[in-house]
Amino acid sequence: MTPRSASPAAEPKAMSGHAKSSTYAGMLRNFEAAADLLELSPDLRKILSTTQNELVVHFPVRMDDGKIEVFTGYRVQHNNIRGPYKGGLRFHPQVDIDEVRSLAAWMTWKTAIADIPFGGAKGGIQMDPGKFSRGELERITRRFTFALGNTIGPEYDIPAPDVNTGPQIMAWIQDTFQQTMPPSMRQNCVGVVTGKPLEVGGSQGRDKATGLGVVHCIRMWAEDRKFPLKGATCAVQGFGNVGSWAARLLKPYGVKLVAVEDVAGALADPKGIDPDDLAAHVKKEGSIKGYPRAKAVERSAVMEAEVDVLVPAALENQITGETAPRLRCRLVAEGANGPTTFEGDRILLERGIDLLPDVLCNAGGVVVSYFEWLQNKRAESWEVEEVDAKLERKMVRAYGRVREAAAKYKTGWRTAAYIVALDALQKVYEEHGIFP
Ligand code: GLU
Repeated sequence: MTPRSASPAAEPKAMSGHAKSSTYAGMLRNFEAAADLLELSPDLRKILSTTQNELVVHFPVRMDDGKIEVFTGYRVQHNNIRGPYKGGLRFHPQVDIDEVRSLAAWMTWKTAIADIPFGGAKGGIQMDPGKFSRGELERITRRFTFALGNTIGPEYDIPAPDVNTGPQIMAWIQDTFQQTMPPSMRQNCVGVVTGKPLEVGGSQGRDKATGLGVVHCIRMWAEDRKFPLKGATCAVQGFGNVGSWAARLLKPYGVKLVAVEDVAGALADPKGIDPDDLAAHVKKEGSIKGYPRAKAVERSAVMEAEVDVLVPAALENQITGETAPRLRCRLVAEGANGPTTFEGDRILLERGIDLLPDVLCNAGGVVVSYFEWLQNKRAESWEVEEVDAKLERKMVRAYGRVREAAAKYKTGWRTAAYIVALDALQKVYEEHGIFP
């Protein structure tokens, strides 16, 4: 049984004094804007503005020094009317119930926009993984998985990588989940997580998928705008999986990376930084710090760089009422989830800065997660060319749907993306009705 907690629907109102600090309240403002234009019924507004299940677990883990630490982990399931709950797990000190709720809702919109048969969920552990040994991380991950129990499952809720989690963590989750099932059922559980290493059922092309999806969106935007990408410049905030792949995959189009930032520092070079070389440095050193072929700069120099494309690929709430007036880009392509606040969005729109919203722009990851899940179900392994081609088709269609909604409803791309999602969800509710 998944424990249920009180509905968070009323919370943004009750919390209005703290509305600025509630990411979920910000998400709901976008939701309401789209719901108004779509004339979504009050009943559906109630349902979709509320998460379905919320699990908070506190679990003990023995540290290398023999002492016990107790950790707090979350899994929030926002909606599964279109298919099993789906979404990543992040390990970060900032993880809390409000953040995880927001991330879960964004997954519901994202899977609907991408038209893959999943719902939305998210989870994580409130911790700084940099502070733990590999052995400790493994024990934390396995004990968290055990605590989640059958809240997750290959036909019910399928986690994946997110901030500070990757294939290795997924392999530990998969193994723990399988080991705690009866032996005859273990092989049916290969697909309990996606974003796994290839050797344990991962998909070709999953690693770069989110970055590749971001690049497809930027390319389509450039075509629409008749803007030549050759010789264009970009700045990337966050050089993890999404940011690094986006920068690397923009390189063949002739887009120069001129400013980049990660947790350890910021770099700039107007002549361009080679993202492949920088990624090799990060692989060796753990961060962009100390990279010898670019100048270390202030963090603000990245977001405020004069570039054609800005790719926020780190955390939420970066482009705000305060920072949005200082941006000097033509396009914001959101690799991160929720990098722009409601107020930030309003300013971008006002300033004529184009936006590729997260729920469209970074959908490539979950799209290839879907392909991984299908391969697991069929015991297949697809060639990378096949995965890439299928991803491109999904991104092209999703982009087209959002562009069409923006034109039809004469609105910005964030609202248009939400409209596409709400419309798809509304149709399913119309067919199903509400039980009983
Ligand atoms: N964490 C990624 C996201 O935010 C991927 C989720 C998934 O593949 O399920 O979209």
